[in-house]
Amino acid sequence: MTEDFSLQELSRLRADFPILGRVGRGGKPIAYLDFSATSQKPVQVIDAISNFYRTSNGAVHRGTHLLGDESTAAFEEGRSILADFIGGRANEIVWTKNATEAINLVALAMRNVSLDNAAKPSPVKLAAGDNIVITRAEHHANLVPWQQLCAATGTELRWLDLHEDGRIDCETLGVIDEHTRLVAFTHVSNVTGAVSPVESIVSRARQCGALVLLDTCQSSAHMPVDVRELGVDFAVFSSHKMLGPTGIGALWGRAELLSQMPPVLTGGSMIEDVTMESSTFMPAPERFEAGSQPIAQIVGWSAALQYLSGIGMARIAEHERILTSYMLEGISGIDGVRVLGPGADKERIGVVAFAVEGVHPHDVGQVLDSQDIAVRVGHHCAIPLHHFFGVRSSTRASVGPTTTREEIDRFIDALGQVRSYFGGK
Ligand code: PLP
Repeated sequence: MTEDFSLQELSRLRADFPILGRVGRGGKPIAYLDFSATSQKPVQVIDAISNFYRTSNGAVHRGTHLLGDESTAAFEEGRSILADFIGGRANEIVWTKNATEAINLVALAMRNVSLDNAAKPSPVKLAAGDNIVITRAEHHANLVPWQQLCAATGTELRWLDLHEDGRIDCETLGVIDEHTRLVAFTHVSNVTGAVSPVESIVSRARQCGALVLLDTCQSSAHMPVDVRELGVDFAVFSSHKMLGPTGIGALWGRAELLSQMPPVLTGGSMIEDVTMESSTFMPAPERFEAGSQPIAQIVGWSAALQYLSGIGMARIAEHERILTSYMLEGISGIDGVRVLGPGADKERIGVVAFAVEGVHPHDVGQVLDSQDIAVRVGHHCAIPLHHFFGVRSSTRASVGPTTTREEIDRFIDALGQVRSYFGGK
């Protein structure tokens, strides 16, 4: 049994995050319950970025001077640090701007190879009659690129459907068939917090010979994620959700797949040779990394991953599990609040979206902000999932490693007052 953090440990941890001392509009320290949108950064990450620029900044893979060598070492070490964190290998990590770009990279490589009649055979090449399967619970980042790919190649887009509480319904796994080339789905929903039945989906995909892409944006900062144990072929990661900086994400892909995919962006840093007529490309992962790369961001993300590992992902998961149950229990005591997602008895994490009867989410967000509680409002880039629940938008509270019971108490207390501001009980 993994232990929850002690109070002393939690307060030591919180002391690493300068922003948690920030006082909000209402005069109290901000209770940050918006980890799903973006995480806050510990001083170890902020210092790593600042020290990089103070001491080592140089271009990578392009020089013989000390600063270039140090930057190159930090850049490549970042690949190994992320690979260790997710159970992959360094040569399987492709740096991208964010998770959205990582998903687009796979979709665009599939498009390029599928539309090129002269292309060599590739496991990501689509043929007439093929389909791609997603789920109704996807963030737009894992929906729109597949719509675009299907429209460009004449491929059918299908999706797994959901139980009433937003969990993926394995009874609908039959949409994956022998014509499915790829199944792309989220590990954890950014609306319902539900953990997807990865094993069942992967096993059905394998039976049908389909590849699997996993979107770990909402899982990789909140639970242990091991890509080989999960049995997927591609996975995408977002630094800014993992205590790291914005501007950097990654695609992990099995080496044998990456090596059979064409480049998407082309230019400097990804070529082997260039003539005026044509070019040859480096092997993966460099083939996918055209142009100057975000080195300081990689250094910051590396520090974030080391920080998370230092705490232990299983302990973070346990801490957040306890807080999630506590939050759901608090919400259940408030009249007129409907949670869009499963209860604490199901496999889920601390992403809790809800609708307040008779009050628009923006108004809910403003009342909470007036009491210095930071939550997200809107459709959270998941419009089809909101339609499924019969609402246009919602309010979402989400927890992270620094969240305390006291912050959740403040949130529940303020949420309990919301309807009275607008004439409800
Ligand atoms: N997928 C999910 C489930 C998300 O929650 C998000 C961001 O909110 C994304 C993808 C997009 O991530 P990024 O900001 O790294 O592009």
